[in-house]
Amino acid sequence: MPDTTFGQVWFVGAGPGDPDLITVKGRTLLERAGAILFAGSLVDQAATRYAPAGCEIRDSKDMTLDAMTDWLIERAARHETVVRLQTGDPGLYGALIEMTRPLTAAGIPWAVVPGVSSAMAAMAAAGETLTLPEVTQTVILTRVAGRTPMPPGEDLAALAAHRTTLCIYLSITLLHKVQAALREAGWPEDAPMLVVQKASWPGEEKIVRGTLADIKRLCQAEKIASQAMIVASPTLGAADWPELARSKLYDPTFAHRFRKATLDPTEPI
Ligand code: SAH
Repeated sequence: MPDTTFGQVWFVGAGPGDPDLITVKGRTLLERAGAILFAGSLVDQAATRYAPAGCEIRDSKDMTLDAMTDWLIERAARHETVVRLQTGDPGLYGALIEMTRPLTAAGIPWAVVPGVSSAMAAMAAAGETLTLPEVTQTVILTRVAGRTPMPPGEDLAALAAHRTTLCIYLSITLLHKVQAALREAGWPEDAPMLVVQKASWPGEEKIVRGTLADIKRLCQAEKIASQAMIVASPTLGAADWPELARSKLYDPTFAHRFRKATLDPTEPI
């Protein structure tokens, strides 16, 4: 029997920035954490607000991946609950598996608590919807190639050809590439686009609405160069459209599991 009892490492999604947008489960884990390793400036508020007195809190921004996993492994030998706190959802551009594999190899149990991703927070901030009946029923979460190349078949022009909602992470400094890809896919110059910086951050959020033609210029005018979500979607602006196709879910002729149809669609009204 090994004489060390290991704690568990929790990869917790902190949400997009507003400390109130962490899940109850995530907050409860922070409240009982012996050590917290947080990722970047966007989540330090949640860490410091909910951590108990005496909790070891460390920013990972100057650490390599190996240094982070070593830190987590070492803390798990001393504390029952160790939290790796990440922005949004840990499974999106979060190097989750790169960190869990060394933990597994060291025999340390780990688990993931999902978080509100910044794509959802950006759309919520702007009062926009990701899907709309008869307009688009699909959302693509993606990025353009930076230092990380895109796998074959995933370049933005190919994805944009579907004309679905595109939520584009990690790409605000590459907005020209986003524009080029949408043009290549045939999106018109007046296609609506949305950029939200620091979505959900009280007092710091910036919302820029524009079109494929002018979104870059508008973002430059607002000095937005980091921490921003780019959205291109045929749903944008729907709150102000004169006509809207009614969702089938609320159509009185449409019965589903929870509600019987109130009208027979075959009967004349
Ligand atoms: N796991 C995170 C994404 C991490 S990658 C999530 O699920 O949201 C970092 C990118 O996320 C940034 O480049 C930006 O595109 C986006 N992002 C993170 N927080 C944001 C916020 N509050 N507002 C807008 N975009 C944000």
